[in-house]
Amino acid sequence: MTDSQKLEIFSEILRYRTVSRQPGEVFDMKPFRETAEYLKKAFPRVHKHFRRETVGGGSLLFTLQGADRSLKPFMLTAHLDVVPADDGENWPEPPFSGKFRDGRIWGRGAIDYKAGVSGMLQACEDILERGFTPDRTVILAFGHDEEVGGNTGAAEIVRILTDRGVSLSSVLDEGGYIYSYPWMDRDIAVIGLAEKGYLTLRLTAHGVQGHASVPELNTAAGSLCRCLAELEKNQFTAKLCNPVEMMFQATSGMLGESVVVTDRSATPGEMMRIIEKWASGNALVRTTTAITMIRGSSKENIIPAFPHALVNFRAVPGDSSLDILNHVRSIAEPLGVDVQYEDTDQIHEPSSVASMDTDEYGAIQAAVRKIWPDIPVVPGIFPAATDSRHYCRIADNVYRFEPVHLGKDGLGALHSEGESITVEDYLNAVSFYTAYVRSVSTV
Ligand SMILES: [Zn+2]
Repeated sequence: MTDSQKLEIFSEILRYRTVSRQPGEVFDMKPFRETAEYLKKAFPRVHKHFRRETVGGGSLLFTLQGADRSLKPFMLTAHLDVVPADDGENWPEPPFSGKFRDGRIWGRGAIDYKAGVSGMLQACEDILERGFTPDRTVILAFGHDEEVGGNTGAAEIVRILTDRGVSLSSVLDEGGYIYSYPWMDRDIAVIGLAEKGYLTLRLTAHGVQGHASVPELNTAAGSLCRCLAELEKNQFTAKLCNPVEMMFQATSGMLGESVVVTDRSATPGEMMRIIEKWASGNALVRTTTAITMIRGSSKENIIPAFPHALVNFRAVPGDSSLDILNHVRSIAEPLGVDVQYEDTDQIHEPSSVASMDTDEYGAIQAAVRKIWPDIPVVPGIFPAATDSRHYCRIADNVYRFEPVHLGKDGLGALHSEGESITVEDYLNAVSFYTAYVRSVSTV
């Protein structure tokens, strides 16, 4: 298949409006069914040789049996669903156009994570064309609800594989990228060995409802605001977890112009102090505190009795959800604010840390070095959450890496207005997945 045919397939996949909805909203499954139909046409060899199953109404599970049944299978995973693009008014190109312009392909999901779906299938199609038979079983898993927690997609796939007695040697997911960090003088490829934990707390102050013309001197809303200000002032202690320490060791000699000269070559501890000034750096070294929703009364002249706020935390390894609850209570309770878990189903502890001493880590490293010889490959941590939170239950190691340049927007590029990927990055992603599947499936 020619490069332009591969690009046309990817562009077509971007045109389906596979938008995930929040719980309670109607999930339109039609675009997922249409995508699944189109994939059959676009990747005939994959559909001939792999077994394909539909899980949870929209997720797709592909299995290619390896010759050696004593080897544990390995998985590559991506997701079909995307976050909403609203009306696309501020997009340079319409969000579901899959349009080519300025050397880029534009569309919601271009990075997150249809480049994975399309790139992984294309890689398998290409190697099957050359008569490929794996020693190790290859599994591709594409969820349809990753953006809303993966509870009917990835979680159901885990249940099915567990019933079949399948345990995976590894999973390759999103969550590491080619970053242009503002404190570095070059791009680096970061392989996520772990992902941070996730927790939301509800903070509520208690008072009496009243008329705004006769307020008390201290209101519940005032207490809540004081409490939120104290929370921001009392951030969690910065910590060097294992993958981040290794990342700093590997990159301390690559600090850029934005860092003062005396810091140009720094120890991991000094690196921590230097980079916490940037939001993206801060997220690497501490459990973050993000005040996201605040609610008082429903009218400008009503004093609220129970104003509340939701605060979202992303925990580094070493900080548990209970540690976070205790820290927040120690600040909130003296101010008359109580603290509860918002949704216990949405609490995730920080993941375990994958080993760097495996064939898979070596295969990722080798594939990146072959495509981008000038880009250093380093371990790191992913500050957000992926479907891997489910897969880690049945896998020895989870690696998070999507071979895409995020550019100056960093992780913001993923859900941005104007999500896009360069043509070059997409074709390189296909080469990357090809090299990875070949290497890991062969013993
Ligand atoms: Zn994603």
